Amino acid sequence: MTAPRVSVVLFTSDLRLHDHPPLCAALAAADEIVPLFVRDRAVEAAGFATPNRTAFLADCLADLDASLRERGGRLVVRSGDLVAQVRAVAAEADAGEVHLAAAHSAFATRREDRLRRALESEGRRLVVHDAVTVAVPPGELTPAASDHFAVFTPYHRHWARARLRAPLATPRRVRVPDRVRGEPLPARADVTGVSPALPAGGECAGRARVRAYWRAGLDAYDDTRDDLAADATSRLSAHLHFGTLSPVELVHRARRHGGPGAEALVRQLAWRDFHLQVLAARPDAARADYRAKDDRWRTGSAARADAEAWRQGRTGYPVIDAAMRQLRHEGWMHNRARLLTACFLTKTLYVDWRIGAAHFLYWLVDGDIASNQLNWQWVAGTGTDTRPNRVLNPVAQARRHDPDGSYVHRWVPELRGVAAPAVHEPWKLPGAERAALGYPDPVVGLAEGLDRFRRARERRG
Ligand code: FAD
Repeated sequence: MTAPRVSVVLFTSDLRLHDHPPLCAALAAADEIVPLFVRDRAVEAAGFATPNRTAFLADCLADLDASLRERGGRLVVRSGDLVAQVRAVAAEADAGEVHLAAAHSAFATRREDRLRRALESEGRRLVVHDAVTVAVPPGELTPAASDHFAVFTPYHRHWARARLRAPLATPRRVRVPDRVRGEPLPARADVTGVSPALPAGGECAGRARVRAYWRAGLDAYDDTRDDLAADATSRLSAHLHFGTLSPVELVHRARRHGGPGAEALVRQLAWRDFHLQVLAARPDAARADYRAKDDRWRTGSAARADAEAWRQGRTGYPVIDAAMRQLRHEGWMHNRARLLTACFLTKTLYVDWRIGAAHFLYWLVDGDIASNQLNWQWVAGTGTDTRPNRVLNPVAQARRHDPDGSYVHRWVPELRGVAAPAVHEPWKLPGAERAALGYPDPVVGLAEGLDRFRRARERRG
């Protein structure tokens, strides 16, 4: 009898069974597979395994394991150096191939190269699959004279016409060789410092959210997506980040559903791919200005105090403070609020975007190098925005996107007794009334902040 052919499927940011090209390819070519997840020590050492994402990840792994068990298999979890662990598992399983979803950050690309070399030196093959964690892979669409699109609108025109592969079926049966052992799964309950209202992770939770949103949110998305209190966006970002949902499948589903809401959502998914293709072409954009404006960001104790007031949600601008408190409480923030808080930090306070991006990356359950750093750069005017010096006025924006003050009331209890529109400008209340609120005065006047920013940018052309 010949020995069974075995392949390893290395899960990374693709923690699902549906529409999973590496899994389907491995199952088609082998008799047994080892579904493997490595808790990479380098990810932890880089500070990327924050409490919120570690807790969400624990849910994802538990859910993946349960779904594999329903199909006769199980998830093998190991920890340590990813390359060393994959080599060890491939050797224990006597696997000929390791299947993996293509990665796009500099860290993941280096890791993939190291893994390929290590496996090839032992006569094994690394098979990398595209369009697993993105709808349209970086590098697939390029303008005539560059390796990536630097402006969203032309990118989106091409993206909307790109051919997407058809989604793949979920496997029915999975056989895992007994001889390969894993560690106990990490438990969400063991993670400390998690946001009190962090949502549940995992493919089942992600698919349930899609069903609910398609039934009762998607059609209105285009009209309600900027309404802060309505909280009417899809909330799929963490699932997309961990790959518990497939972006290819989501685009197909939304297009089938049709209508302005679905179209607007698909456009947002294109933004995700857009930032990824920028980062893949310019990995240094995770830290360095994509289009430097020669900023000399404020430093020193006053700037540090302003940044801390921003982090704590105590800037004296209600909509900004509401958003910053939502971030800590839920590990998530509404997109309009992300735009306002990032603009406030970088332009009104003129504090380096990297300081804000690091804080977001710590708390966001969807915290993602491409989407986070490049959106921060977009807002700061050092990125791909074609109007880099635009400044959003937090009071005007609050009046527009939180007209009755419900969003502020939800997150800033000090202001619950203040009705709109005064709730967005509490500093205008009479002195005694204002003092009784126990809410801080503005860290800076809007006109002063705007003037400081304009002078800084004009001086540097
Ligand atoms: P929806 O409005 O329902 O959009 C659907 C999906 O489209 C999202 O889940 C997301 O995957 C994608 N999407 C929407 N807008 C964007 C965008 N501007 N850029 C990239 N993808 C987008 N998104 C992250 O996933 N991770 C981050 O770390 C992140 N950091 C951000 C930082 C700043 C300063 C800003 C302005 C935006 C950031 N975003 C980030 C983008 C966006 O705010 C979130 O994706 C969105 O708020 C998530 O909520 P949702 O799933 O309900 O979004």
